[in-house]
Amino acid sequence: MLFPHLTGQEVLKRRLAAAAEAGTGHAYLFSGAAGSGRHVFAKAYAQMLLCENPGEEGACGQCDACRHFVHGIHPDFKSLELVEKEKNIKVERVRQLCSDLSMQPQIGTRKIYLIDADNLNEQGQNALLKSLEEPPAYVVFILIASGTHKLLPTVLSRLTNLALQRYSNEQLEQILTEAGYLEGDKLNFLIRYANGLPGRALDLAANEQFGKLRQETADFYLSIAANSRLNLLSEGFSFFDERRDSCRLILSIMSSMIRDQLLLASQADESLMVNQDLAQQLKRTVAEHGVESRTHLWRGYDALREADRAFSLNVSFEVLVCQLLLSLRKELANA
Ligand SMILES: [Zn+2]
Repeated sequence: MLFPHLTGQEVLKRRLAAAAEAGTGHAYLFSGAAGSGRHVFAKAYAQMLLCENPGEEGACGQCDACRHFVHGIHPDFKSLELVEKEKNIKVERVRQLCSDLSMQPQIGTRKIYLIDADNLNEQGQNALLKSLEEPPAYVVFILIASGTHKLLPTVLSRLTNLALQRYSNEQLEQILTEAGYLEGDKLNFLIRYANGLPGRALDLAANEQFGKLRQETADFYLSIAANSRLNLLSEGFSFFDERRDSCRLILSIMSSMIRDQLLLASQADESLMVNQDLAQQLKRTVAEHGVESRTHLWRGYDALREADRAFSLNVSFEVLVCQLLLSLRKELANA
C-alpha cells in the first residue's frame, strides 16, 4: 500500500499507485478543501516521482533525491504559489515557469511543478495551457485547487482529477493523537469542528489562542439578537476591529454555532452538534422549533458565508462588518 504513514484517502492512494505503475501521467489535479491534506499527498507523490529507489510504499526517504526534496532544495521540484501582495499569481510568473520546462532535469529524470491553481486567474490558466497540452516527456504538473469550479474547461480536460475525501471523526482522532494531542473535551470539540479536514484540526490544536477566541466569539454571538442596533454598530464593530487578523476564524466559529441552531430547530440528534458544551445557550436563542425559525437561521448562515467571501475581495471592512451585524441581528432576533 502506498504511503502507509499517511492516514486515510485509500481511493486516492490506489489511483496514485496505479498511475505510478502505468508510467506516470503528466498533469494531475489534487482537489479538496483547504486542510484536506491535498498538499501533503501532492508532495508525497512528487517525492516518490523524484526518488531514485521508489517502492510500493512510496519514496525511499534515503537517497540523495529524497534528502534534497525533504530539505526543500531539490532543483527539479518547483512550486508556483501566491506571494505577498499578489491578488492572483501574476501571468508573468506563469510564463517564466513555462520557459523553464524545456531545460532538462538537473539531477534526476523528471521535473515536477506544483501549482496553486486556486490563485491562477483566466489569463494565468491560458498561459499555462499550451504547456499542459504538450509538456516535455520528463515534466509532471501537479495542480492544487479547492475544487474544479475555478478552472477553465480547456485546462481541466488536461488534468487527471484526484479528489480528496473528508476524513471520518475516528481518522481525525488518530491523526491528532499521533501528532501528540491528548484526548479530552478539547480534542473531541476540535474533531467535530474540523468537519473532516485534518489540516484544520491540526492548525487549531496548535493554536493556543483558539479556545479563548471561541469563548469570546460565543459570548458575543449569543448577545447579538438582544443587542440594540446602535450598540452593535459601535461595540459589535469593535469586537471585529480588535481582532482583524482572526475575522475569518470568527466567522467560521459563528457559522458552526448557527449550524448547531439549525440542527436544534430541526430537532435533529444533538450528538451531531459541534458546540455541544453550548447546547443550552444555543437552544435558548431558538425560540420556536419551526419552519420560520429555520428560514431565519439559514439567512443568517448565508450572511456569514457572504461576509467570508467579501473578506477575500476588496470590500471595505467597515461596510462588511456593519452589514453582517445588522443582518445577523435581524435574523437571529426572529429565529
Ligand atoms: Zn528516495
